Amino acid sequence: MVTEVGQGVSWTGYEFRRARMVERLRQMGITRTEVLSAMSAVPRHVFVEEALRSHAYDDMSLPLGLGQTISQPYTVAVMTQLLFARRAINPNLRILEIGTGCGYQTAVLQALGLREIYSIERLRPLHERAKQNLRAVRLLAHARLVCGDGYLGLPQEAPFDCIILTAAPKEVPLPLLQQLSIGGRMVLPLDEGGVQFLWVIDKTAEGYQETCVQQTLFVPLVNDK
Ligand code: SAH
Repeated sequence: MVTEVGQGVSWTGYEFRRARMVERLRQMGITRTEVLSAMSAVPRHVFVEEALRSHAYDDMSLPLGLGQTISQPYTVAVMTQLLFARRAINPNLRILEIGTGCGYQTAVLQALGLREIYSIERLRPLHERAKQNLRAVRLLAHARLVCGDGYLGLPQEAPFDCIILTAAPKEVPLPLLQQLSIGGRMVLPLDEGGVQFLWVIDKTAEGYQETCVQQTLFVPLVNDK
């Protein structure tokens, strides 16, 4: 029996459930093969608390502690698919993620082969846990995790080709729009008076093109200002 990286639990049960999760995502309309492969490669159960591991491959969000949640697999898949919908997944694309949480979305981005990933989390215990989780699954090498206010982005590392927010602001943070490259894409949930919608924003030389995708549910993006 093969042992999971650093976790001392058997592969088989989780591997089976993960395969079923990926099949379900395919049936739900996730067609991009790279996204499905990346989600097949990341052991989601390592990212959730031990007591919840039996639910790690169910299509549900799960509590991370400190009032935060890990998004349901379908949401991760949809957002990842949207982020790269118009382009080849080139390893050199520069990616910024806001809201590292437990690091699962970051791991999926790395499993896509991306080598320039930055991820910001404002709560230090989660930032530390994400580092630990990513190290445990050997997916920390190309992710730079930062503890800070994601609302401000990382001006010193801009521009980014892709920006993904996994917490919902009430309006699109201006610094993040400024840090998006021309031809770049941002995927984010927006809280519009208590109802949230997933938006895609494309930045072109002429301006921004905004598309509303579907209703969604995320924890709020805290604006520390
Ligand atoms: N992508 C995560 C889900 C994270 S939940 C995962 O895969 O687990 C959203 C996260 O956004 C929470 O951890 C929350 O602390 C963080 N967050 C909220 N406001 C933030 C801000 N202004 N800057 C950085 N992180 C923020």
